[in-house]
Parts: sequence; C-alpha cells; structure tokens
Amino acid sequence: MEIGVIGAGGGGAAATYVVDNTTEAEVTVFEKSRGVCGRAAARRRDGRVYEYGANYLKGDDERVNELVTEEFNEGLAEVEGDIWTFDAEGNVSEGRGDDERRWTYEDGITRLAKHLFGATDATVRRETRIEDVSYDDGWWLTDAEGREHGSFEALVVNPPAPQTAELLTGTGVEKVDRLGDSASDVPYRTVWTAVLGYGFEIDVPYYALINTDDRHEIGWVGREECKPGHVPDGESVLVVQASPDWSAERYDAPPEENVAELAEKTARLIGDERLAEPDWTDHQGWRYALADDGVAAGAVGDAADEGVYVTGDWVAGEARLHAAVRHGLETGERVAYGLTT
Ligand SMILES: Cc1cc2nc3c(=O)[nH]c(=O)nc-3n(C[C@H](O)[C@H](O)[C@H](O)COP(=O)(O)OP(=O)(O)OC[C@H]3O[C@@H](n4cnc5c(N)ncnc54)[C@H](O)[C@@H]3O)c2cc1C
Repeated sequence: MEIGVIGAGGGGAAATYVVDNTTEAEVTVFEKSRGVCGRAAARRRDGRVYEYGANYLKGDDERVNELVTEEFNEGLAEVEGDIWTFDAEGNVSEGRGDDERRWTYEDGITRLAKHLFGATDATVRRETRIEDVSYDDGWWLTDAEGREHGSFEALVVNPPAPQTAELLTGTGVEKVDRLGDSASDVPYRTVWTAVLGYGFEIDVPYYALINTDDRHEIGWVGREECKPGHVPDGESVLVVQASPDWSAERYDAPPEENVAELAEKTARLIGDERLAEPDWTDHQGWRYALADDGVAAGAVGDAADEGVYVTGDWVAGEARLHAAVRHGLETGERVAYGLTT
C-alpha cells in the first residue's frame, strides 16, 4: 500500500511519522524545497543559526509538548527571556503576561521535522514540486519535471491553502475539487522578514518585542542570541518581521531597500542607532505567512472519504506550528484508520 504526502512542513512530517509507525504502508513525501519543516525555517551562516519564519514552537499543546520533550528532545532548546510589547508610536512596555514555554532546537527549528522523518522509513523526495493531482484507479501526482508518481491509495496534502487549492481543483473527483474551492477562500497575511547581524552584543532586558496595536510598520523583533546554540558570544542577530500591510506593499520592492528601511526602524524602536548599520543581512518574503481563518470542516471530511486528507495550520484553524504538528498527528491517525476499515 502506498501513501503520498505533498509537503514536508510540520503537518506533513507529523502525519508521515504516525502513518509510517502505525501501518504497513510505504510513505513517499514530495517537498518542493531543499529543506524540510516549511515555514518553520532556519538558515546557518558562519557558525550562526537563525529562524526567519516561525520563531519558536509554543509549548501550549500537551501532546506536542510531550512529543518534543520526551521523544524528540535531542538538541531541544528553550528560548530564554520575555516578550515585551510596543505600540504604534514605538513606546516599549514590559511583559506580555504569558509564561508559556517556547521551544526550538540548537541547530534550528527544522530539527523538529528532521526528527519526525528520522523516526520513519519514509522516502523524502526534496526539490520535487508537485504540480498536478489526478485520479485513475488510485491517486497520481505529476511533478514540475513532468514525472508521474503513483498510484497512491491515499494522499496527505500539506501546502498552505492557496497552493493546496491549485492542486486540488480540477481532479475530476467532486468532493476533492470542492475542498480545493474551499481552500481557495482561506485568507492569508503576508510577512516580510529581515535578518540583521551585528558583531556586538545588544544589551536589552527582553527576548523579543511585539507590536500589540497592529499599527506599527514592524510587527516583531526577536533576538536569536536568546536561543541556546544559535549565536556565538559577542554577536547579535535580530529577526525583524514587518507588519502585514507594510509587507504586502513592499513585497516586490528591492530587498536591500526593505532591509535598510527595517534596520533603521529597528534602531529607532530599540533606541540604539548602531542597529541601523548591520554587519550582514538576510531576508525572506512570505506571501502566505499566516492564515487568518480555517477551512470549512465539512469539505475536509468529504475529501477524506475519497482518500485525500489535508493537514496544516490552516486546517487546524490556528496559524501556529504546534497546531500544524498536532493536526498532522491526528491526520496521520485518520489515514491509518481509513486504511484499516
Ligand atoms: C514569518 C512567520 C513567523 C511565524 N512565527 C511563528 C511563531 O513564532 N510560532 C508559531 O508557532 N508559528 C509561527 N508561524 C507559523 C508557522 O510557521 C506555521 O503555522 C507552521 O510552520 C505551518 O506548518 P504547516 O505544516 O501547516 O505548513 P508549511 O510549514 O507551510 O509546510 C508546507 C510545506 O509544503 C511544501 N509545498 C508547498 N507546495 C508544494 C508543492 N506543490 N509540492 C511539494 N511541496 C510543496 C512547502 O515547501 C512546505 O515545506 C510563523 C510563520 C511565519 C511565516
């Protein structure tokens, strides 16, 4: 029995982990990028590690918490320090009033998906973008090079809703096409991220700053040095996420201009003019960063009757990594159950 998984994000990895460990099925994962873990993304640069998508895994889902602290705790790191807030005028206030735990890994948050896949015999085909899904006595996938993969008894589909919509409309299987239509209705916020590196330590009493009135051009500034193993002593790395409005407006602007503007705004916000001139920078635009709503549950269940299961934060109804992983685990269980009944 063959199962195909499109997308190696937190949701796809968790579903693979469950299906592979609870059934006899052969699981093949197709991931368009070079790396795994999707929007929970990390890069390395000269001995530094930084996360330019999800900042951390929140510790507020019991099941996922247990999974990372008990099963996949090798290299697990707790983010140190508090999150402070700021308003439209850039006034910083102490504390956000939550005491939840925040997890990442010393070598980057992508370790979570690497752990999950590492505990399976699944085949993970990286740099394989699926462009078409069709049905002919089983599910078939066509990749960007025109190669066909299949047939699969069931599919787990993990890309963000707009990309899932492209794949699932036009399969000719009514319930699946209807899910594709529902997925196309899920609204997303765009986030443009600048990464700013400095050869000195920044002396502030918080891990991160978050804008709470959604009226500042910066939404978030996090300090990677608060994550054990990420930044060598004597250096700092700031991850700056622009607000959704600014990000959408500047999405196609020259990246170096965006980075320079965000560095200046960050310097003003933190109150240290040295921060306007980083020693090195990186950036990433996330067009589909955060789903603002979930998908219609009925459409999800109907497509599952045809062997097509969607998973991810937009199906869970919460744009958070722990929600995607939790949903992936549960989807894996549904697939396993579907194979045995
Ligand atoms: C800037 C930013 C900051 C965030 N901050 C946080 C945070 O601090 N804490 C938190 O909990 N969450 C945060 N999130 C949200 C978090 O990243 C997501 O909720 C979570 O990673 C979603 O996982 P997923 O499995 O649903 O999807 P994804 O991670 O999007 O995985 C989908 C995968 O499918 C692949 N794919 C897409 N199309 C195809 C195709 N056609 N063929 C093959 N593969 C394909 C993609 O490459 C990707 O690997 C943030 C997100 C962003 C963008």
